[in-house]
Amino acid sequence: MIGRQITVTGRVQGVGFRPFIWRLAHDAGLKGHVLNDGSGVKIAAWGSQTMLDDFQRSIAQSPPTLARIEGVTATRLDAPPPADGFQIAHSVSGHISTEITPDAATCTACLADMRDPDNRRFGYLFTNCTHCGPRLSIVTGIPYDRAQTSMRTFTMCADCQREYDDPGDRRFHAQPNACAVCGPKVWLEDAQGPVASADPVAETAQRLMRGQIVAIKGIGGFHLACDATDPDAVQRLRARKNRQAKPFAIMAQDLAQIRTFCDLSDAEAELLMTPGAPIVLLRTHRPLPGVAPGLDRIGVMLPHAPLHHLLMAQVDGPLVMTSGNRSHLPQTTQNDEARGTLARIANAWLMHDRDIVNRLDDSLMRVDHGGPSILRRGRGLAPAPIALHPAFADVPPTLAMGAELKSTFCLLGNGRAIPSPHIGDLTTPQTYADFRTKIALFQNLYDIAPEVIAVDLHPDYLSTRWGARLAKETGARLVEVQHHHAHMVSCLAEHQVAPEDAQSVGLILDGTGLGTDGTIWGGEVLVGDYHNFARKAHFQPIALPGGEKAVREPWRNLVAHLIAAFGPDWVQRIAGTPMSQMLADKPTDLIGQMIAQGLNAPLASSAGRLFDAVAAALGLAFDQQYYEGQAAMELEALIGGRAPQGGYSVAVSDKGVISWAPLWTALIADLEAGVDPATIAGRFHVGLADVLAETVASVASEARTGRIVLSGGVMQNRFLLHHLTDRLRAQGLTVLRHRQLPANDGGLSLGQACIAALSPDDR
Ligand code: ZN
Ligand code: ZN
Ligand code: FE
Repeated sequence: MIGRQITVTGRVQGVGFRPFIWRLAHDAGLKGHVLNDGSGVKIAAWGSQTMLDDFQRSIAQSPPTLARIEGVTATRLDAPPPADGFQIAHSVSGHISTEITPDAATCTACLADMRDPDNRRFGYLFTNCTHCGPRLSIVTGIPYDRAQTSMRTFTMCADCQREYDDPGDRRFHAQPNACAVCGPKVWLEDAQGPVASADPVAETAQRLMRGQIVAIKGIGGFHLACDATDPDAVQRLRARKNRQAKPFAIMAQDLAQIRTFCDLSDAEAELLMTPGAPIVLLRTHRPLPGVAPGLDRIGVMLPHAPLHHLLMAQVDGPLVMTSGNRSHLPQTTQNDEARGTLARIANAWLMHDRDIVNRLDDSLMRVDHGGPSILRRGRGLAPAPIALHPAFADVPPTLAMGAELKSTFCLLGNGRAIPSPHIGDLTTPQTYADFRTKIALFQNLYDIAPEVIAVDLHPDYLSTRWGARLAKETGARLVEVQHHHAHMVSCLAEHQVAPEDAQSVGLILDGTGLGTDGTIWGGEVLVGDYHNFARKAHFQPIALPGGEKAVREPWRNLVAHLIAAFGPDWVQRIAGTPMSQMLADKPTDLIGQMIAQGLNAPLASSAGRLFDAVAAALGLAFDQQYYEGQAAMELEALIGGRAPQGGYSVAVSDKGVISWAPLWTALIADLEAGVDPATIAGRFHVGLADVLAETVASVASEARTGRIVLSGGVMQNRFLLHHLTDRLRAQGLTVLRHRQLPANDGGLSLGQACIAALSPDDR
C-alpha cells in the first residue's frame, strides 16, 4: 500500500466536491481523507498503485456538474495510512472558502425527486442540491454558509438536516437545502390580495392561458409572463410596459417545443441545457407575432427553477418571460416592490418568501461559427472568475468601474479577475444605487481592497465619478483608461495574452467613447498592448446633430452622413429616392445649420452611428430607436440568409481616415434602380468588412504583428463579424474575439482593470 497527496484546483469548493471524492474513495476501498484548503481540495489517499491511478483518473473524468477542474497534481506521501477508512476532514483552520458559484438550473436528480410521488420532495418548488439551485442570488456575505444567505430565516427540519450532515448525500452542505416542511413557500396574489387556491401554479397556468399577465418571482428577479402565442396578450404587455419594439425573451418547456418555432443546432441545444440556463438567440422559422418585431432571431430559455418546470408543464406552449420592471427601471426583486411597481402591468403575482439578495438579469448568449459567445452576463454565468495570464499574479488589487449604459465593474486580485454581473444603465438612480452596493458586496465576498481604481476617460460617466470618489476616500491610485483601449485589452486579457508580448491590432467598432484628443471615437483601428496604444486608422468624424438625440433618432445621422458625403448638394443627390420623401417633414435645414455652426453637433468617428444612418436610409427605425442597437439589428436581420455579390466601395486616406462618400453614391444609385433593401443591406455589410479587413491587414503588417483583436458593441453584428473573421484569417492573421465577456461595454471593465493594474505608479 502506498500513499499519495492529490491537489485539485479550480472551482472545487461549494459544488459537492468533497462528498464526490468521499464516494469515489469508498467505492475504491481507499484509506485517507479529503479537505478544503486555500488552494482547492486536498486529498490524502492510501491504496495500491493501480487503485490510486484509477481513482485519480475518475476525479478528472466525472467531476460534479458545477465543478470546473483547472489542475490535478499528485505527490508521494511517505506517512503510514490511517487506521480507519476514508473521512471528510475539517477544512484547514483559518481558511475560508470564498468561492461563490453562479446560480445553477435544477439538476436532473432534483427534477426526478420532484416528479416522484413517493419522494418527500414531490412537487416541492424549492428543491435543490449541491449540483444545482440558487447561489449568488441569495448570498449576503462570506463565508458561504446558510447564515450568510437569505435561507437563514428557514430552519432545516430533521430530515433536511440529516441530508445536510451526511457526506454520502447529494445535499451534504447544500446551503439552500429545503423541503415543504421547513422551506420557502409559494402563493398567488392579485389586486384583491392573496388568491385562495390549493395549487397556485396551476391557477397561474390557467390565468396565463386566459391571456393574463402574471409577475413571476424567479431566481434573479421577477419576470413578467404571458402566453407567447397570444398576440393580444403580447400586445397588452407591450402597451402596459411601455415597451414598443424591444424584443421579449421566451421560456419554452423543452427542446422539442423550441423546434416548433426556431431552428436549433446541436451546439445551441447544448448551450440551452447548461447549468447557467442562459437565454440563447435562435433563428425563428415561425415567428411569434409581436415578440421580436423586425428581427429574425428570438431569445429563448429553458426552465431553470423548479417553479418554471411545474408551470411550463401546465401551459400550452411557450411563454413570454421578460424582466419584471417598468420601462428603464431595473428588474424588481422584492415582493413589496413588485406589488407596487408592477401594479399597472400584471394581473397577478406568483410570489415566494425566499428573498432575492442580488438582482441578476438573465444571461444572453448565442452560438456563431466560432462557438458560444456572451451578449449579457448575468444569472448563471456571474460571478465565475476569469483566469488571467500568470503575469497578473502579483499586481496590486484593482477595481475597474466600467462604462455607463451597460455597466459592470471588475475586481482583480490573486491572479484572476472577477467581473460583476450585468448591472445596467447607471443613469437610472435605482441601478446606480445597485452598482454601488454590489461593489461593496463583491469587495467583501472576494476580500479585495483595491489599491488601484480604473475609470473611463469620460469625466461625466457616473462610474467615473464614483470611482474618483472611492479613490479619494481610500487613497487608492486613480487611473484613467481610454474607452477603446479598454475594449481591446479586455479581449487580450480573456485570451490570456502575455503582457510582455501583447502587441496587436485592435479593430474596435463601437457606439461612442471619449478619445484622447477630446473628440468622440467609435470606429477605431489601434495598435497597442496592455500598456499603450496608437490610433492608426479611424472612421471619418461625422457630426452628431443634437448630441444624445442623434443616438436615439437615426434620421439625424442619415442627414449628417449625407452632408458629410455631398455637402449642401445632398438634397439633389437623394431626390427620387424614398429617403427624400421620408426626410421631407424633418427639420433638415436646422440640422444643416447646427452642423455648419458646430452647435450641439459634436464630431464622432462612431461605427454605431454609421449603421444607424444606413438603416435610416432604408426606412428602418427611421424616427426613433426604442432600444440600443435597434436600427443596426434590423439592418442585419434584413439581409436574411443571403450572401450578396460584392460590396460598396469605401475610401481610405493615407492618414487612415475611412470615409463614406463612395458608399453613399452607390447606395443611392441602388435605391434609384429599385434594388431590394435586403441586397443593399448586404452590400453595405460586405463593403464595410472588405475595407476594414484590408485596413487592418496593412496596419498589422506595418506593426509587425499577426494578432488582431475584434471588440466593441458593433462586433455583436454576426454577419459583419463572420465576414471580417474569414477575411482576416484568409490572410494568415490570428483573430481574437470575446468568448467569456460581451464585446460591448459590458466587457469593458476587465480591460480597464488589466491596464490600470499594470500601469506604473508614478505618484
Ligand atoms: Zn439538484
Ligand atoms: Zn426540510
Ligand atoms: Fe464601448
